[in-house]
Amino acid sequence: MLRFFTLTLSVLCSLSSLVAHAEQATEISAQRLTNIVKVLASDTFEGRAPGTPGEDKTIAYLIEQMQGIGLKPGGVDGNWTQDVPMMRTVVKSPLAMTFTGTDFTLSLEQGSSVSIDTARDLQTIVAEDVPVVFVGFGTHAPEQNWDDYGDIDLTGKLAVFLVNDPDFAATADEPAAGRFGNRRMTYYGRWAYKFEEAARRGALGALVIHETEAAGYDWTVAAAGAGENVSLANKDPQSLPVTLQGWLHNDAATQLLAGAGLNLNDLRIAARNPNFKAFELDGVKFATQFDVDITRFDSRNVLGVLPGGARADEIIMASAHWDAYGIGAPDEQGRTVRAGANDDALGSAGILELARVLKAGPALERSIVFAFWTAEEAGLVGSKAYAADPIFPIETTVANFTLDILQTAGASHDVILVGKGQSDLEDDLARAAQAQGRYVTQENLPENGLFYRADHFSMARVGVPVLLIMGIAGGADLVDGGREAGDRWIADYVGNCYHKPCDAWSDGWDLTGAIQDIELFQRLIAELANSSRWPSWKAGSEFKSVRDQSRNQRDEGNP
Ligand SMILES: [Zn+2]
Repeated sequence: MLRFFTLTLSVLCSLSSLVAHAEQATEISAQRLTNIVKVLASDTFEGRAPGTPGEDKTIAYLIEQMQGIGLKPGGVDGNWTQDVPMMRTVVKSPLAMTFTGTDFTLSLEQGSSVSIDTARDLQTIVAEDVPVVFVGFGTHAPEQNWDDYGDIDLTGKLAVFLVNDPDFAATADEPAAGRFGNRRMTYYGRWAYKFEEAARRGALGALVIHETEAAGYDWTVAAAGAGENVSLANKDPQSLPVTLQGWLHNDAATQLLAGAGLNLNDLRIAARNPNFKAFELDGVKFATQFDVDITRFDSRNVLGVLPGGARADEIIMASAHWDAYGIGAPDEQGRTVRAGANDDALGSAGILELARVLKAGPALERSIVFAFWTAEEAGLVGSKAYAADPIFPIETTVANFTLDILQTAGASHDVILVGKGQSDLEDDLARAAQAQGRYVTQENLPENGLFYRADHFSMARVGVPVLLIMGIAGGADLVDGGREAGDRWIADYVGNCYHKPCDAWSDGWDLTGAIQDIELFQRLIAELANSSRWPSWKAGSEFKSVRDQSRNQRDEGNP
């Protein structure tokens, strides 16, 4: 009897330890996230800049992790990677750059009055007697009957832009009010749009006047890495970027316009009116001359697959970016490695953990692709390159889930939604959050245009419905300290650490809230992987029509 009892006990014990082990295998682990971040953000990885030895180490580590999990290679030709041809340009100093008018000369200094770089393949850039055009917000929005350009010709000229879009600062009684998402930043407000619009119009250069509130970040962020640009090397010759691009400090812009007899603040108000039209600054010319160091290299996206069963050719994508800012100037503590521990080593760790728990869980019908993009910080380059040359067809890519920065301040009552009104994935998010006993809060500064500033946007542009979790999109309602504590965490992170050496792993991190957020993706991906549903864009989303086109290319088995 006693012996039987002992046996039973030991069987029970081993059974319960098996159960505990199985549970653990399908749970996101704080310890594993920490271990991964500590490796990726270590000094030996040198801040994971594309094209550096830090890239080789990062790629090798990600592949080793995915092999350990038991994923299959998801890159080109049965490999784990997809090449992304890149070009690094560095504007050499000294950089002579001046505005001259009939009775003034304004010399610009790289880093303090201007932050200028080039994405063109030119070793020497010389510009003399270049006319300067103030284009206001530089918005050309036919659907709003709004055109700041009128019939002005920008060919060979320098275009000077206001940041954000015409209704950012507009009051309710102004004609611009509400036409560009109010305080929400539309794509028209992004510097990327302004540079592209200037290039389409043949401008030599484009400078955006920096303002902290309207840009969403202060001058030190705008001027970080002044002169450096990393971009896709094989650019389309039909749509080359402008030769010069960057930020103009608000003080320098004020002086420039004063030199032309104008007042910047008055112009800001005038540009909020649909009747505003771009104009050349009378008698003002721009001149510059500098050399550029150009280096070419192949960077890599890294991809692994968890193949599905019944419908393996339908893809759900989970992604993060592996790159960070590399090595820079020392901070007050002498640290030079901008390790991007949170941005986005932690997101990458989250994707690896998702891969591990989904592999350990029940088999799924659809395939899951885990993608680690390069050069997000250089302008979403890796994800854009993938979207332009996808390994898995876009029309059968069900959805993309992106992690980019997670809050490290502990458990929260809510999850922050970026890009409200875009797709029905936000309804899924609300349901999944509710199942966790949490709720959804909208991002607190939609005017910053975060929806257009992470890699999920590259997939959105080609029509794939996306969901982004980004820890700086709004202060979480923390279990310990509420919204105020959540806002404080963001202010501290964005103010002190974002893109700086301070974004390092810390033993003060509390990953409970980050894990809650990753678990939302785990639930949504597993659900979607066993369903035949195709999430869709909501009516009014700017990405709906491109998805409707790819829907026609897809043979929807079960619509
Ligand atoms: Zn990031």
